[in-house]
Amino acid sequence: MRESVLELKVDLGDRSYPILIGQGLLGSQDLTPYVAGNQVMVVSNETVAPLYLEAAKACFPGKQVDTVVLPDGEKYKDWQTLNRIFDALLERRHTRKTTLVALGGGVVGDMTGFAAACYQRGVPFIQIPTTLLSQVDSSVGGKTGINHPLGKNMIGAFHQPEAVLIDTATLQTLPPREVSAGLAEVIKYGLIRDEPFLSWLEGAITDLVGLQPEALAEAIHRSCACKAEVVALDEREGGLRAILNLGHTFGHAIETFAGYGNWLHGEAVGTGMLMAADLSVRLGLIAPADAERAGVLIGRARLPEKAPAGMTPEDFLTLMAVDKKNVDGNLRLVLLRALGDALVTSDVKSDSLQATLEAFCG
Ligand code: NAD
Ligand code: MG
Repeated sequence: MRESVLELKVDLGDRSYPILIGQGLLGSQDLTPYVAGNQVMVVSNETVAPLYLEAAKACFPGKQVDTVVLPDGEKYKDWQTLNRIFDALLERRHTRKTTLVALGGGVVGDMTGFAAACYQRGVPFIQIPTTLLSQVDSSVGGKTGINHPLGKNMIGAFHQPEAVLIDTATLQTLPPREVSAGLAEVIKYGLIRDEPFLSWLEGAITDLVGLQPEALAEAIHRSCACKAEVVALDEREGGLRAILNLGHTFGHAIETFAGYGNWLHGEAVGTGMLMAADLSVRLGLIAPADAERAGVLIGRARLPEKAPAGMTPEDFLTLMAVDKKNVDGNLRLVLLRALGDALVTSDVKSDSLQATLEAFCG
């Protein structure tokens, strides 16, 4: 049953938008106030559509609602699949007044947002994220795009949605590994910016893993608030927004080594954050007990705590050297100066880095 709605604003001047969070909002929340014209195109995938497409359509009473259902998977985040959205829009004669709606995880969200940024030089869109990761991360902030065979997320645009609708009830059907992967990004917000939230998470982690609705709503609300705040301060990643990459440089190396899809992004970020915390201890930034606290929480979120079997420190160094966040060939890392306070630095002693890599490999 529908309960209360938590509302949060992403403050971006005349492009500000609300995030609506609650249990059972899908189907009961009227989203027509966020639709300027009469046409709506709901984009989903073959996993999510059978579960939630009908309820999503019911959010737009009185509108012409068309749908396009894409194949499921990161490997379909490409030009060919993107083009199916344009085909559907043109076949159904959608005009510049149409509104696109992304119903699914981050893959559907990124593709639909990018389609909206391009169609007829830009039309509005609404995000209805259905994975924990997309609810706390990808649906907020306006980064949209697709992959290129030579690089992930290499083709894209900044395009902010009109609104984000988060129904925590959709998480009940999410596979447990995907829940844990989303929790990694939730824990990240506590680690980089919000120590009280981190303490709250330590008490709530069992409820979160068990998908308890009130705990989920609170965690999502505070995560979105944190991301919204960082994005409002630095929409185009000039500086501060980089702290959102805590654990991601190590994590990307793990994802690449394991082969995309074998480790989920959030799983790799979980281990990556532990590595960042460990390195922060070695550089004298935080106490060993702080890294220990992060480790316990990440373990209780059922995230892996070691690099993949067979991965060596040399593998890390090779893979991190090609990371896109490197500036002028220097390795730039997000580290912790306290729990709840991150910094971006290229001042990393190579023997400390080596010691961290050794501690997490083998
Ligand atoms: P995903 O979209 O692939 O979803 C994971 C799986 O869960 C898929 O199989 C999906 O069909 C399924 N699913 C979705 N909702 C479900 C539900 N309620 N019940 C059952 N199954 C469900 O993966 P993701 O983790 O949501 O997103 C990853 C993508 O997001 C990547 O492409 C990444 O690049 C992108 N991303 C973008 C940003 C951004 O700022 N734009 C930030 C982080 C990640
Ligand atoms: Mg991430």
